[in-house]
Amino acid sequence: MSIEHFDIVVIGAGLSGIGAGYRLQTRCRGKRYVIFEARQAIGGTWDLFRFPGVRSDSDMFTLAYPFRPWKGAKAIADGPSILNYVRETAREFGIDRHIRFEHRVQSASWSEEETRWLLVVKNGANGETVRCTCDFLYGCTGYYRYEAGYEPTLPGAERFRGAFVHPQRWPAELDYTGKRVVVIGSGATAVTMIPAMARQAAHVTMVQRSPSYLLSLPARDATRELLRRFLPLRAANRIARWKNILIGIGIYQLCRRAPKVARRMLREGAAKNLPSGYAVDKHFNPRYQPWDQRMCIVPDADLFRSISEGRASVVTEEIETITEGSIRLQSGEELEADIIVSATGLQMLALGGVEISVDATRVEPGRTFIYKGTMLSNVPNFAFCVGYTNASWTLRADLASVFVCRLLNHMERHGYNTCRPECDTASLEARPLLDLTSGYVMRAAARLPKQAPEKPWLIQQNYVLDMMTMKLGGIEDGILKFGPRFPYTRGDEPQGVVAASTTSSECSVRSTTFSSPRRTGWTA
Ligand SMILES: Cc1cc2nc3c(=O)[nH]c(=O)nc-3n(C[C@H](O)[C@H](O)[C@H](O)COP(=O)(O)OP(=O)(O)OC[C@H]3O[C@@H](n4cnc5c(N)ncnc54)[C@H](O)[C@@H]3O)c2cc1C
Repeated sequence: MSIEHFDIVVIGAGLSGIGAGYRLQTRCRGKRYVIFEARQAIGGTWDLFRFPGVRSDSDMFTLAYPFRPWKGAKAIADGPSILNYVRETAREFGIDRHIRFEHRVQSASWSEEETRWLLVVKNGANGETVRCTCDFLYGCTGYYRYEAGYEPTLPGAERFRGAFVHPQRWPAELDYTGKRVVVIGSGATAVTMIPAMARQAAHVTMVQRSPSYLLSLPARDATRELLRRFLPLRAANRIARWKNILIGIGIYQLCRRAPKVARRMLREGAAKNLPSGYAVDKHFNPRYQPWDQRMCIVPDADLFRSISEGRASVVTEEIETITEGSIRLQSGEELEADIIVSATGLQMLALGGVEISVDATRVEPGRTFIYKGTMLSNVPNFAFCVGYTNASWTLRADLASVFVCRLLNHMERHGYNTCRPECDTASLEARPLLDLTSGYVMRAAARLPKQAPEKPWLIQQNYVLDMMTMKLGGIEDGILKFGPRFPYTRGDEPQGVVAASTTSSECSVRSTTFSSPRRTGWTA
């Protein structure tokens, strides 16, 4: 059995995986990498979600890659434009040539003896299971389950005769023109789709158990538009990016340090955009403090405008049951519906569901601590990429990729073969990974890695501080432990190991094919 070997395997070809590819090929030039992608397409989230109006809720000058400026006029962009941007980036830099589509990584087993990972990958196109090895594994798998969103049991749902849809599996043929639509949920997805659907539907009603904070922001960035008149695109975007980073940090800090002030400001912002006498406190004044849950952005107050124009409405109440043609509320009120959208959220999933083991001992993500927001305690040669919850995902995801490149280069320079953040996990005070009280976060908290109150186990949620640590901070900190280079050098392999030419035309791999796994370190 011939086993292909890669220097680095990246899992996932979404926004993060494509960004990782760019960083690896520009900062670790000698290293060869492959990207395994379970789906047939690039883009991850931006390819999966197809509901009406799908868009970013953070500005594109921070959501776009710092190395490829966003050319669009709008700061808040629609989903198809973002997908196009990710795909064009992959094409422009030749990252797409490194991707193997329909390759789902099922398990990754680290052998201390072999000092490398053995991956078991399912090829969805032909049903075959492929094995390969790599020196370093980088998970860019996003944070939620692709197969299905969170779908709580709604009493009577099976009786409903109309269309019952979930945003994660939006039927392309669904025609909602002139239909009565009820959207269950109050998160970013509900807030995004309601104004878009309200343009064609007879009426859209949002049913929420409790309200969320909504912040209206201009869809266009006036500063960037002004700067574009006399500065090149890159320079104008860079200034807009830093402006938005600092404003974002400012808003977050205000919410955390002066929640009453922030609450009042948010409430006033909503009231200003709604008809006088509207029940703002009932529908838009949450029980929790600002930024205890992710804030929903409303570009140009679009949701508020739909409500003011009578095309959409909000009901804040518990659902009693769903009937053949309506949703009955606990008050007895009945909302007639042709279409029900269950915008009830995502199911979080750690590490893309990949089963990870170190010397045959299964790694349970929920029992690990996160090092610099990027590696797992005591797991060697492994990193993963997660973005911010309080700012654009890419800001942190890119820092993670830059850090991984620095780490790989450091190892190369010093002749190290392994690196692992070592810690006695029992000695750390475990805190949830994400400092949010949202349902989807709370449901998954036990299964996710933990953070601790002190660095480097603390998630800072602050781009400026993270930049200092990830881009500028020292690599050797006494916690990240390094091991010596694998004893064999190329051309000096023991018997049974065959140096061969590159085996894949799709992607460039280190031109070494092993006739069998070396020795017996793996049990997978
Ligand atoms: C509707 C919606 C709107 C959002 N809007 C914003 C926003 O405005 N701003 C923001 O900052 N963030 C937003 N987010 C968060 C968003 O997920 C990130 O912006 C970003 O797209 C995440 O990119 P990613 O590549 O890390 O993950 P994903 O986009 O989830 O991509 C992960 C990829 O990994 C693949 N994969 C997973 N597991 C495996 C495996 N085992 N083997 C092989 N491949 C695997 C998946 O198929 C997928 O292609 C939004 C999320 C959603 C759901």
